[in-house]
Amino acid sequence: MGAVTIMISDHRIQFNKVTTFLSKMLENYPKLRAYARPRPETDILFKADYNHVDGNDTCKNCDKSRVEERMEREPRGEPFVHYGLIASGNRVMKDAVERDRLSKDSGGAMCFEMEAAGLMNDFRCVVIRGIADYADSHKNDAWHAYASASAAALAKELLSYMDSKEVTENLPQIGTIDSAGAGSVFDLMLTDPRTAATLYRHGISDTRRYPRQITPADFANFTYILAMDGGTLRRIRDFQSNWPNHNRAARTLLFGNFGEHESEEVMDPYFEGQSTFEDLFMQLTRLSLKFLEHVLGMRQT
Ligand SMILES: [Zn+2]
Repeated sequence: MGAVTIMISDHRIQFNKVTTFLSKMLENYPKLRAYARPRPETDILFKADYNHVDGNDTCKNCDKSRVEERMEREPRGEPFVHYGLIASGNRVMKDAVERDRLSKDSGGAMCFEMEAAGLMNDFRCVVIRGIADYADSHKNDAWHAYASASAAALAKELLSYMDSKEVTENLPQIGTIDSAGAGSVFDLMLTDPRTAATLYRHGISDTRRYPRQITPADFANFTYILAMDGGTLRRIRDFQSNWPNHNRAARTLLFGNFGEHESEEVMDPYFEGQSTFEDLFMQLTRLSLKFLEHVLGMRQT
């Protein structure tokens, strides 16, 4: 994919943005400090033939003379992006000898994981994983949170190299995405500054609005019409059944149907005063991912 190639060549001359993204995240959300980078002393690689002392959560009783001597990373504390083969299996790898053998047999796998295998069969994709341990018996969770945050940060950086057109071209199941109002839209011509601020914080800089009202053609042109709350859903369904002489193919659903429980409504931060714009962003992100999963799964059926 073009975006990956460009990102790789950028990383030859400048640092990746993982550290920047993560420190911004911790600045904005101090509660997420569990995702901070652990101290370098906790990054220990033992020799492949030396096994963990059983019955301990940490390596405090493991023989430090069996630690693999390594050069200090340059620059210190900067995460390094490895490009290469990821081995995907159905069980956790926690044996250094087997790890090395499988890596050799597979042509140099650099990382072992358990989630991507099924996904790859369904659609072409780039898999980004944070490395949390050495896939040996000394496995512990100290680097887990940081590794997952780093992978998310790199994914975010990669997305910055892609335009949305490229994203939709790579997801042929998705065509046009649009939004329309079911009520009056005249009072919503300007982007609310709180909405814009929230989007900026998540790296979305295009906050223009194109307000319009739902039209009969929408029911023919779109496969899904998703309502944010129950009142809107009723109004849309009224339109759908009352507008004569048009194709009523679109499936009209509550967006929240793709959430944790049926009939979840999208929060309204403008009027309720209790939910924040940040909560709303998180809710919409969660529902969008669930919806995407649903659409991608549809291809098989
Ligand atoms: Zn150990």
